Amino acid sequence: MPQSDLLPGGAPGAGGPLIRFDGVVKRFGANTVLDELDFTVDAGERVTLIGPSGSGKTTILRLLMTLEKVTGGVIWVNGEPLSHMRGKGGLVRAGEKHQREVRKRIGMVFQQFNLFPNMTVRQNVTEGPIHSLGVSRDEANQRAEELLDLVGLGEKIDAHPTRLSGGQQQRVAIARALAMRPEILLLDEVTSALDPELVSGVLDVLRGIAESTDITMLCVTHEMHFARDVSHRVLMFDQGKIVEEGPPEQIFGDPREERTRTFLHAVL
Ligand code: ADP
Repeated sequence: MPQSDLLPGGAPGAGGPLIRFDGVVKRFGANTVLDELDFTVDAGERVTLIGPSGSGKTTILRLLMTLEKVTGGVIWVNGEPLSHMRGKGGLVRAGEKHQREVRKRIGMVFQQFNLFPNMTVRQNVTEGPIHSLGVSRDEANQRAEELLDLVGLGEKIDAHPTRLSGGQQQRVAIARALAMRPEILLLDEVTSALDPELVSGVLDVLRGIAESTDITMLCVTHEMHFARDVSHRVLMFDQGKIVEEGPPEQIFGDPREERTRTFLHAVL
């Protein structure tokens, strides 16, 4: 099967951007983490969020996964609100069906792999498609085999995750996310918990997916070389705001803002 069939990317929305953050505010108590944030991501675009720790990057991904709720503003996906939100013009209501559909279209890979330890690798990858998408067991198994081959773990399909290295577990987590055929893939510091020698194997898998599909990716990473290689656009965050954005060649090669320069100087 050609990889483009195996890993379909996002179908464009109704002409507009696939994701739109519109004046999004997020507070935890008195701490304003995102402050009137506006940005968009087009279908098929790969956008990397960089910036110092605590600048709100992970919160953005968690809001998209509806693991957190916005305090204000609206997040639109495919032209519809992600959930009920209070925008500038008042309450924006989201249909229940749309909310369920949107959640299914977004996949996330976390820093801690979050695999089900009591299930085999195969069960980890087939569980979601069978129970949430209603895919037959045979079809889910076939897809799991293809995806595990793609991430280089075909022969570990019947192993338990606890027997795998961190890098292997993270590659299973990537296969598990892709098994749901997401339109949008969110990657949250997916190599931060790995021993240094395991990082490149995971990044190579992600590079391959980026190159062979048009899946929309939103990625938080400290791996600046990876960000440079895979991103169409880089957003530099500080204190819940976008300080600077641009193509990776410009952000990494010729940053305009002093804050970006000092951040890159510290991490590169
Ligand atoms: P980054 O990903 O850029 O490191 P985060 O989005 O993780 O930043 O965190 C931004 C800020 O939000 C931090 O000050 C963090 O302490 C705070 N924060 C994140 N999640 C929570 C939470 N569940 N409860 C309280 N504060 C939180």
